[in-house]
Formats: sequence, C-alpha cells, structure tokens
Amino acid sequence: MAAEVVNPLRRNEIARLALAMDEHSYFFSLRRGVKTRFSRDLNGSGTQGIYINRADDEFSSDYLISVVFQPSYGKDDEFLYEADLITDQRKDYEPTVNRGKHRFKAWRAYMEVDWNGDECRQWQADVVRLSRSADTLTGWIQADLEMIVRCGSRNCWHSAILSKTDLERHVAAGMTLEALTSQFKCSECNKREARISAF
Ligand SMILES: [Zn+2]
Repeated sequence: MAAEVVNPLRRNEIARLALAMDEHSYFFSLRRGVKTRFSRDLNGSGTQGIYINRADDEFSSDYLISVVFQPSYGKDDEFLYEADLITDQRKDYEPTVNRGKHRFKAWRAYMEVDWNGDECRQWQADVVRLSRSADTLTGWIQADLEMIVRCGSRNCWHSAILSKTDLERHVAAGMTLEALTSQFKCSECNKREARISAF
C-alpha cells in the first residue's frame, strides 16, 4: 500500500519529480516501463493529480507515486506550476468551467516506492539528465542526451529517436544542430517541421 508523505519538503520533491516524469512521459514509458497520467480535474472541485504506475499494471489504483495538487491562493505559498483551473458547476449534466490560469501547489503525495531506493534514484537521475539542454550538437552529446524527434503536425504522432551514435555520426559529417533539425521530414505525413527534445 502506498503511504502518504507528510513532510512538506519531501512532498514537494516528490511533486517535482512526478511533474518532470510526466513532462518526459515518453522516455519513462519506453525506457523505465512506467506510465504517468495527469488528471486536470479530479472531482469537479479543480483538484488535479499525477498518477504513476508500472506500464504492465497501468490500471491498478495502487500507484507507485501519486500527487494531488490544489490551486494556491496565498501569496507566499510555494507553487509548482501554472495551469487552467477546471471545475464543474456543482450541478449534474452542466459542462465544466475553465476559470483561467491558476497556480497549483502540492497538497498530498503518496509513495509506494522508496525515495532512496535504486529505482526512484534512477528516476531522479533521469530527470536531472533530461532537463539539461544544449544549443549545439556537440553540447547535446556531452550532456549525455539522445534526441527524440516528434512530428510537428497536429494529427500525426510519428516520432523517432536519434541515439548518441546517430548524433555523433552527424557531428562527424560536419552537421550543425540547426542544419540537422531543418532537414527533418516526417516519414508518415511528409511534414517538415519537427519538435525535438531530450531523450
Ligand atoms: Zn507526421
């Protein structure tokens, strides 16, 4: 059973980890076998949550990590992200209402895994590595990053991963980051714009 984390500092650390894992959900799904799910309105009250499970146990409600966020109204409150506040109207069958940008803070966190265990330490290291950025191809390799290239078309989900070896081959061929990204073309839909991120 997952235990609630009551220490507010640790709760914020867990919340930041969960947010970063969700941001790099493709990496964590493919390389670490864990799925993240971000719910933008849990119960009609504007509460949001991130739920992390093993991919092969995706629908279990005994989450490895779960964090519940609430809008933060206090000035000095430590907020972790900004997002639209979505609430219902306290009536059945009425559409939800978008109440605009709000700041959210971690309200509750639950952990099934050990924060200092090998698996969780690996995730923490992954997030540190994935949050590095570089504006040259060489810098990208030095930061120990692979590259995920995603099609920029709204209706196409095609993606490809360039390994470190691929990146090194492009550097050896005298390619710059700009030249490389400008020549990407989706093999599914032929769109030329692509988004790159660390992998
Ligand atoms: Zn495409």
